[in-house]
Amino acid sequence: MKPPAIVILGAGALDTARRIQSLYAGSQVHALQGRAQADVAYSEFGAHLRDLYARGTPIVALCAAGIVIRSIAPLLADKGVEPPVLAVAEDGSAVVPLLGGLAGVNVMAREMAAALAVAPAITTSGELRFGTCVLNPPDGYALADIGQGKRFVSDLLAGESTRIEGDAPWLDDAPLPRSASARLAIRVTPRAWDGRQDELVIHPRCVVVAVTGASADASTETAARLAARVRGVLDAHGLAPLSLAALLASSAQVTNAVLAEAASALNVPLRFADGEDDEDGEDGADSPASLLHAALRIPFETVHDDPQERIALALSPLALDPATIGRARGKLTVIGLGPGNAELMVPAARAALDEATDILGYETYVKMAGPLRATQRVHGTDNREEMQRARHAFELASAGRSVVMVSSGDPGVFAMAAAVLEALDTTQDAAQNAAWSAVELGIVPGVSAAMATAAQAGAPLGHDFCMLSLSDNLKPWAIIEKRLHHAAQADLVMAFYNPISRARPWQLDKALDIVREYRAAQTPVVLGRDIGRPGGTLRTVTLGELRPADVDMRTMVIVGSSTTRCFSKGAQWVYTPRWYE
Ligand code: SAH
Repeated sequence: MKPPAIVILGAGALDTARRIQSLYAGSQVHALQGRAQADVAYSEFGAHLRDLYARGTPIVALCAAGIVIRSIAPLLADKGVEPPVLAVAEDGSAVVPLLGGLAGVNVMAREMAAALAVAPAITTSGELRFGTCVLNPPDGYALADIGQGKRFVSDLLAGESTRIEGDAPWLDDAPLPRSASARLAIRVTPRAWDGRQDELVIHPRCVVVAVTGASADASTETAARLAARVRGVLDAHGLAPLSLAALLASSAQVTNAVLAEAASALNVPLRFADGEDDEDGEDGADSPASLLHAALRIPFETVHDDPQERIALALSPLALDPATIGRARGKLTVIGLGPGNAELMVPAARAALDEATDILGYETYVKMAGPLRATQRVHGTDNREEMQRARHAFELASAGRSVVMVSSGDPGVFAMAAAVLEALDTTQDAAQNAAWSAVELGIVPGVSAAMATAAQAGAPLGHDFCMLSLSDNLKPWAIIEKRLHHAAQADLVMAFYNPISRARPWQLDKALDIVREYRAAQTPVVLGRDIGRPGGTLRTVTLGELRPADVDMRTMVIVGSSTTRCFSKGAQWVYTPRWYE
């Protein structure tokens, strides 16, 4: 489940909000701008709630239930995915589940109420009577038909008893009215539902289909054909598509896009294993049955094995956790956090963080990326060992982990994306080359410090500009001087990254001397320090008055061009016009 958005209207609710937040890793507190400071600021309550709801984000609103209902009412007519929505009294004295019964709202209500030491206001009859939602089986199980499920629960509520056929360990302690001779039955089976109205059918995800020799010709059509073949084999054995736990393929095909698309069409994870060479196989490739043997660590029955058609099917007596089947394709995503506050991080970066198993980066940034789940491994390192960190990321990813490398701002601007690509580009070892190349590598952009600072100041980058790092750690100082001359001469606005540090005390002064040869003393200079972070400051000075003491390594320095100007209307603004004379 996605972590919930905990939405508050004022500072009075912050304590309760933080207590609820501690229950859900990755959750954030959203506060009305100007009323309270939290993780995310919003400006209009109703619009914000509707936006969250439309994205399927679970909502915990610390305000009157009526306000919540009225806010999302316009969206309720559309039947779509309904995320859990709860209203919680701001002092924590009441927890009211409102929507999302099938998405686990009552489970959340119970969790929060337990933490707040109150009784949840549960109104779902089935839940109240049977202590659990029969229609909401745990991970690893899927309800065959929700319409049938609702009828079934009404029958139970009307006083009927039920039998339980098959293994339903989560119902062991539920106070369900049971009887061995009951007309109604809860049936836990991988077999397809036959339409019988007096049975509630729940499918354990206990089937794995292995395929080999998938075409490398990536097209939606080939993927659809493969998915159809898998469904066909399930159907031939009377098995429900919902009982499929994973699609399994050979590690040699880890980069095959057809397999990935077919798995996503089947709505199951794609896993990989190294089978044994099949001596009879035409191309000597892994046989599908050998993949099943290599990937499954529990007893199972091979129900279907067709080496000719290159497909085999395993049935296990128990629901399977896909994470235990073979291994996943490793993933490495290099993300930018933006300047600091959560609102300026792009949603794709947040999504990558949420699904990561391992997070790497400079400790300060890893902290900015939180809150993380206790199960996520953090590999914090000193900022300087960048190549070593990049290699470590590939090691983890090529072992099947889902790795996120964090940078501040944009990962491609004086940050980790280039180091990661350099590590991949320059690895010489053949085995490493193969393993690292198979990793699903992606880079997610972020709001760079120059953009974040410029936006606060106005639009100093409104015309041609350049970004320069003044650090001579990785390039000779002579190159920096040369670029400064050229950039100043070309009348580009200049954004200085890494302007100064204890180890590089004199460089900024020298850089400013060069710029002053070309630019007037009145040229505006924007200084953004810790932009988007607590205690951030923004100042505009002139090139003439700027001193290195005004700048430290947490400062972004934007030096204007000959046309950059300042004015004060409502606030102080700096901009560089779009035109030139
Ligand atoms: N990848 C980062 C830049 C890393 S270089 C980005 O795209 O923003 C580090 C330099 O960036 C710092 O020395 C400082 O000049 C600048 N910087 C990074 N974060 C900043 C912030 N929040 N406020 C001001 N400057 C920042």
